Formats: sequence, structure tokens, C-alpha cells
Amino acid sequence: VAALIAERKRVLGYNCQLNYPWQPMAVVRGEGQYLYDHEGRQYLDGVNNVCHVGHCHPKVVAAAAEQLATLNTNSRYLHPTVVEYARDLLSTFPAPLRDGCVFFVNSGSEANDLALRIARAHTGAHDVACVDHAYHGHLSSTIAFSPYKFDHAGGEGKAEWVHRLPIPCAYRGKHRGKSSDPAVGAAYAADAAALLDGTAASGRRVCAFFAESMLSCGGQVVLPAGYLRGVYAAVRAQGGICVADEVQVGFGRVGSHWWAFETQDVVPDIVTLGKPIGNGFPLAAVVVRAEVARSFDNGMGYFNTYGGNPVAAAVGQAVLRVVRDEGLLAKALSVGGALQAGFRAIGEAHAEIGDVRGMGLFVGAEIVKPVDFAERARAAGLRGDLAQAGAARAEAERLAGEAGSAERRDDAPPAPWKDLAEAIAQLMRERGVLVAVDGPWGNVIKLKPPMCFSHADVRRTLSELEAALKLARP
Ligand code: PMP
Repeated sequence: VAALIAERKRVLGYNCQLNYPWQPMAVVRGEGQYLYDHEGRQYLDGVNNVCHVGHCHPKVVAAAAEQLATLNTNSRYLHPTVVEYARDLLSTFPAPLRDGCVFFVNSGSEANDLALRIARAHTGAHDVACVDHAYHGHLSSTIAFSPYKFDHAGGEGKAEWVHRLPIPCAYRGKHRGKSSDPAVGAAYAADAAALLDGTAASGRRVCAFFAESMLSCGGQVVLPAGYLRGVYAAVRAQGGICVADEVQVGFGRVGSHWWAFETQDVVPDIVTLGKPIGNGFPLAAVVVRAEVARSFDNGMGYFNTYGGNPVAAAVGQAVLRVVRDEGLLAKALSVGGALQAGFRAIGEAHAEIGDVRGMGLFVGAEIVKPVDFAERARAAGLRGDLAQAGAARAEAERLAGEAGSAERRDDAPPAPWKDLAEAIAQLMRERGVLVAVDGPWGNVIKLKPPMCFSHADVRRTLSELEAALKLARP
């Protein structure tokens, strides 16, 4: 492995990322929800949302192999599979999208770039609104509205045509409460509308609002109820259109619906799809409302050499059939529900687990520093918020007595604990279960496993999580 790492560093771009950079995994085989490394060790894959129906699903492999052995070429020949696949894919959308059309591309970044071109063509406007900490792709267009990547030292930086809306996180954001509370959603939507009004007043016009329907890079955030409805209304009132990026969260992962935007009771004008629809094969798509798609015509036609090529279409069709035939939406609801409930139960016993959130097989847990009430009171005293140091000490003692109680003195969330989250993920990996850590403060344990994840896998994940938490805690 050391030699492979050294050689990889020599021949690949020096900063091409690996998972677990401190101890990269050399994986040689995948099957269902498992990955196998070069020594034959099995890992339960709790993270890989690309291999949606399971690593190397036999029906998907067979469809790819058969089509590859029969014909593969560019997408400009008449071929039935891509037409059948587009028709079936559209049938998973609500109206009016289901009466719209599909453009096939090869990656999520390409899908968002094409969505941007279509939005600009349709509206005549140029600017984009996005949610802070979002990631929408690595192209020079999409990186500009991907604060997750550009907003670091050495990052490309934000373009002047991009307007960033605050993360609508009900746990750690400006308006706190339950994500199911419409008042929280309305408060964030009102902030977004005010920001967009300011943008319009300064003479800039937004062609599109891009948002994931659950925030993955933003830390597995479930959007508060009514948020998208409010922001969509504000964007549309200014003549812009709304793009749902379902590259990570879509295709049945939420369990209750095919698409996560449906849980927010909105219908976007454009939806971008990627990762899961190809189960690991480079396949992505842009689904567009008919009227919007008609504006995208410069008289030259649209052409994408590999977008919707016969093998990609055969793979996409096979994946879609497996999701339907194996009832994976219902399974995501039941297995994902058990996973969230299990996280919550562990959180009851361990104060290091803060907010647990998600939908279906998209679950996140904040790892936090348990609140030290005495410390808080002392800090309040130091800030001069309490009349005198003596009063602060008395208050500290009183609050320290209450520290064991569930009631907190104020509604500020406990501080994120990145190091502990990373230690837990590392220990779980050593014990054969893969989870990711992400979010703006690097403290959210993320799970978004292949949809064949079972109740037994949930039990194993939870018991390893609890064991790792106990071991990692200083
Ligand atoms: N949108 C989202 C939400 C993503 O998570 C990603 C990939 N992480 C992309 C777009 C870009 O997709 P790709 O890497 O296939 O270009």
C-alpha cells in the first residue's frame, strides 16, 4: 500500500483527494453493502451513496456487460434504450416535470453547469443564489457557487455573480428549533428573501436558485418545513427559476418519495441528478420543465458525446428497475428510521451526541462537547453580564448543580467536537464500519449507505458507534 500511495502521488495530480488521507484504503472489490480491501478485510459501507443499489449489483453489471458487448457509441444515433430510460425516469417526477424532458450528461458537475446555462437562457439573467457551504461541482462555473470548496485558504473565492444564503440549520443556525416547525422555515426564508431583495435593489438579477433538498456538505441538514416554498416564491417573484440539486440526496434515499424536494412540497423548474442513478457508472441528468427547456435553443442543437450513450442508458434503466423491483424506497424508510432511532437512543446515554437528523437512509449526528454549565456562567461573569464576580461564582455553583439535568440555560447548541468525530470515524473503520465526517465544523458523522443496507447492518453500525464513542472519549 505504501508503494501504491507513493506512485499515485507521483503520477496523479498532487492534491487528488483520498478518503482517510492519513491511512488510505486500498479497496479491490465491492459487493452489496460491503467493500473488501487488498488483504480481504470486509467493511460495511455506511457512506457510499454512489453505489445506490449496492456495489456491483448483478442486474446492473449484466445490463452494462450486455450493452457494452453489443454496441456503444456516441449519443447521436437513434437508439431505443435511452428513450425508454428517459420516459421511465420522468415517470418518477411529479407534474409538470414528468411532462418535461431529460438531458443526459456524465457527472453531477456537468448537470449543474448545464442547468445554469438553461436558467440563463430562459431568464436572460446571469446571477446565482446558493446556500452557504453548498457543493455543486468542480467545473469553473459550478465551483463559483460551491462555498464548501471555494471558501478556504487557497480556494478560488466567490464570484461577484453569486449570492450566498445562510444555512437554514434548525440546530446550529441563526433561527433554532425543530426542523419540522414552519416558523423556523419561515424565518430562514424571510432572511433569504431580504437578501434577494437587496441583490435586486443593487441592480443584479438572479437567474436561478440552486439548492440541495437536504444539505449534505452542509452537515446532513434537513431543511426546515416550508423553507424551499418560501425561497422559491421569492426567487420566482424576481423572475428567477429554481434548481434542485438531487445529485446526492435524490432517487429514493429519503424513502417517502423518489426526490427529496417532494418532502418540501415544491416542484423545481430543473432537477439535477448524478451519482446514484448510474450506481457508480458515470451517468447524470438534467430534468427540465418543458417551457424552460424550450428556451434553451441557440439553433445549433445540444450535443454531448457520452451523455446518454447506450451503455449509460442501459445501466440507468437497470438501476431504476432494481430500485422499483426491490422496493428500496420502503426499505430506506424502515431501515433509515431504525438507524435514526438508534442514534437517538445512544444520544440519550451519551451527551457527546448532539442533534440527530435526517430522512430515510440519509442520517447525520452532531458530535459535540457536552455543555459545561459552570463554565458558561463563569464566561458570562467574565463578560460582565453578571453584576460581580461573586455573583458569577454563585451562579456557576447553582448551574453546576443543574448540569446533570436535561434543561439547558439557553438555547445555544453545544460546541462542535471535530476531533472526537474524527476519532470515532477512524475507530469505526478499524472495526470494519465506514462512516464519514463532514459539515461546516467538521463534526457531523454522516451515513448515506447503499440502499440495500439492512436492519442487521443498522445494529452492527450502532454497536460499533457506541463502542468507538466510549473508546475515543478522552
Ligand atoms: N452536487 C452535489 C450535491 C454533489 O454532492 C456533487 C459531488 N459530490 C456534485 C454536485 C458534483 O458531482 P460530480 O462529482 O459527479 O461532478
